[in-house]
Amino acid sequence: MQINQSQALFEKAKQYIPGGVNSPVRAFRAVGGSPIFIKSAKGPYLYDEDGNQYLECINSWGPMILGHAHELIEKAVSDAIQNSFSFGAPTRKEVEMAELIISMVPSVEKVRMVNSGTEATMSAIRVARGYTGRDKIIKFEGCYHGHGDSFLIAAGSGAVTMGVPDSPGVTKGVANDTLTAPFNDLAALTTLVEANKGQVAALILEPVVGNMGCVLPNEGYLQAIRDLCTKEGIVLIFDEVMTGFRLAKGGAQERFGIMPDMTTMGKIIGGGMPVGAYGGKREIMDCVSPAGPVYQAGTLSGNPIAMSAGLAMLRYLDSHPEVYTRLEEVGSTIKNGFNASLQKLGLNYTINQIGSMFTLFMTDQPVTDFNSAKTADLALFGRYFQAMLKRGIYLAPSQFESLFFSYALEDQHVQQLIETNEEALKEVI
Ligand code: PMP
Repeated sequence: MQINQSQALFEKAKQYIPGGVNSPVRAFRAVGGSPIFIKSAKGPYLYDEDGNQYLECINSWGPMILGHAHELIEKAVSDAIQNSFSFGAPTRKEVEMAELIISMVPSVEKVRMVNSGTEATMSAIRVARGYTGRDKIIKFEGCYHGHGDSFLIAAGSGAVTMGVPDSPGVTKGVANDTLTAPFNDLAALTTLVEANKGQVAALILEPVVGNMGCVLPNEGYLQAIRDLCTKEGIVLIFDEVMTGFRLAKGGAQERFGIMPDMTTMGKIIGGGMPVGAYGGKREIMDCVSPAGPVYQAGTLSGNPIAMSAGLAMLRYLDSHPEVYTRLEEVGSTIKNGFNASLQKLGLNYTINQIGSMFTLFMTDQPVTDFNSAKTADLALFGRYFQAMLKRGIYLAPSQFESLFFSYALEDQHVQQLIETNEEALKEVI
C-alpha cells in the first residue's frame, strides 16, 4: 500500500504544527510509521490522501456511531448553514437539545453546552468545587478527562502514550489538589477519602474506561463508589464523553443503573461537530452563572450548526433502539471471532469488550486497572497495528485506547475484521 501523499503531508505538517498534528495520538508515535492523512469517509470506510480505503474502527474516537456522513446528519447541517453559522445568542435548537439530553440521560436535570469534552470536565469540577466549597478532586490512574490542568495527573489516552503522564506546565498547586486512586480498588479509594475527609469536592471517573484501553468496572464497584460519595458529600461525576449515548442511549449510568450527581458528555452529542456538555442535579447546576455564582461561558457554545448535527444524531438514537441491539451484536461477534483466532493460534491475550467498545490487550493478564493494562507488550501491539493497517483496517494507534464500532458495520465487515485480525496476528507473533 502506497502512502506517499500522507508521508509528504506529514513532513510538511511537522514544519508548521507541533509534531505535525493537532492532537498527539494522531502522530502514530506509539505504533511507529507515518500517520495516514484522511481525505474523506463514508459509512464504514475511511479514504486517505492516496486513495486507500480503510475499514473504520475508531469513528472519530466515538462520534460517528452511525458511520460516516450519515444522510440525516448531512441534511441537518446543510439545512442549518442556510441560516448563518453562529449568533452568540440563544436559539430554539439549544432548548431542544437540552430537553432531549435530559430526557435521554437518567440523572441529568439541567445541562450546559460547551465545545469539547475538555471544557465539559473542567467546568464540571469548577461547579462541584463551588457547590461544595471544597478544593480537592479524586480521579483514577489511567482515566483521561481531557487536557485541563487538574486532570493531567496519572492520565490515560494520549498522555500515557506520549510518556508524559504529568505534563510540564501544570503547577504544583493544581497537582496537589488532584488525588489519584487505582481503578477497581475500593479499599484504596476508601483510604484516600478517609485521609482527606471533608476536603474532596468531586470524584470523577469514566464509568467504563476507554482511555487505558477498554476497562470495565468490577461487579458492584460503581454502586460502592456511589454510596461512598453520598456518605462523604462528594459530588460524583461520571465522565460519559465516551460512554454516553454509546453503551445505551442513556450511557453507562443507564446500563449500570447508577445515578451520578453530574455527567460530562461530548463526542456523539455533536454528531461529529465540536461539542461537549455537562449536566446534573438541578441544585448543583443552578450554581452555574448566570443562575448562580460559578462562572463558565463560551462564545460558540450551543453553536447552531453543532446543535443541528447533534440533535439529528440524538433524535435518531432516541427513536431507533435497534442501533444498540445491533452494536451489542457487532461487539460480541467480534469478541467471539477474535477469541476463536487467539485459541487457534495458542495465544492467551485479553479482550475487554462491552457493547461497541473493545480492546485487544497484548497481555495474558486480566486487565482491570492501569497497572494491568501496562503489562501489555507495546512493541507487539505496534507491529499488530501496522499489520492491520496494511490490510486496510484502521485501529486506534495505541494500546491504551478503546475501539469504537459503528452501526454502519455490516456482517461482511465484521467477518473481514475477524479474518484480518487472524492474519495479522499470524504475521506478528
Ligand atoms: N473525557 C473522556 C472520557 C474522553 O475520552 C475525552 C477525549 N477522548 C475527553 C474527556 C476530552 O474530550 P475532548 O477531546 O473533546 O476535549
